[in-house]
Amino acid sequence: MLEVRDLTVRFGGITALDRVSFSAAAGRIVGLIGPNGAGKTTLFNCLSRLYRCDEGDILFEGRSLLRTPAHGIAALGIARTFQNLALFRTMSVRQNILLGAHSRAAGGFVAHALRLPRVRAQERALAAQADEIVELLELGPVAGRRVADLPFGTLKRVELGRALASRPKLLLLDEPAGGLNHEEVGGLMELLRGIRERLSLSLLLVEHHMNLVMRISDQVVALNFGRKIADGTPDEVRHDAELVKAYLGNA
Ligand code: ATP
Repeated sequence: MLEVRDLTVRFGGITALDRVSFSAAAGRIVGLIGPNGAGKTTLFNCLSRLYRCDEGDILFEGRSLLRTPAHGIAALGIARTFQNLALFRTMSVRQNILLGAHSRAAGGFVAHALRLPRVRAQERALAAQADEIVELLELGPVAGRRVADLPFGTLKRVELGRALASRPKLLLLDEPAGGLNHEEVGGLMELLRGIRERLSLSLLLVEHHMNLVMRISDQVVALNFGRKIADGTPDEVRHDAELVKAYLGNA
């Protein structure tokens, strides 16, 4: 489903990604790990076309993402969450999730704007899609509440819901466990497994919470100083000497 080929990104004298290659099969959970500055966010920003890449390519279902404009990424079926939550704070939980549902359908919405019955049918379908996500993430009790009034742990779920509402084939999760307490991380783990089963999508997550990554991922890709240093099952990667050294230094 996803193939990253020799991806290289430079910022002036810094090589943030240095010929990184890996592939991920459909329906898998792939964890992307590495110390600070390893290049994880840069890779995410390339996948969502926020950054320009210098060399290499990214293929999604055989199609080059680097030749797809940034606004075409959602239509291909790729969605992402942001560490700094991309939510409209004065709108309700349900309105935020509904906007997420619109993000993939936007092209079709404009194209059919003059055919009102069709637009109404589409509106109904998107509302049903948003309601399904509200239910899946157990956000029903707060669906009508203003985002600004809710606790951080709930907002992380709304952010997940906003991205899921577009019914992506590939969901990029940027530190989903960041800022969550121990109990919330346990809930997130169950939630992500449930989402993968119920919506049959693929997940690529950048995460510092090693316990979460190792327990939930089918495949783990590790970066260090922009280079891929390990790629395999959690068990294979856990004992990789270069990875252990990258995290612990020479201590
Ligand atoms: P963290 O876990 O701390 O978020 P990361 O693995 O996501 O780190 P990146 O943010 O991708 O790492 O950074 C990789 C390298 O690229 C770093 O040296 C960083 O300073 C540099 N870098 C990233 N984005 C930019 C940018 N927009 N301009 C200049 N340098 C950048």
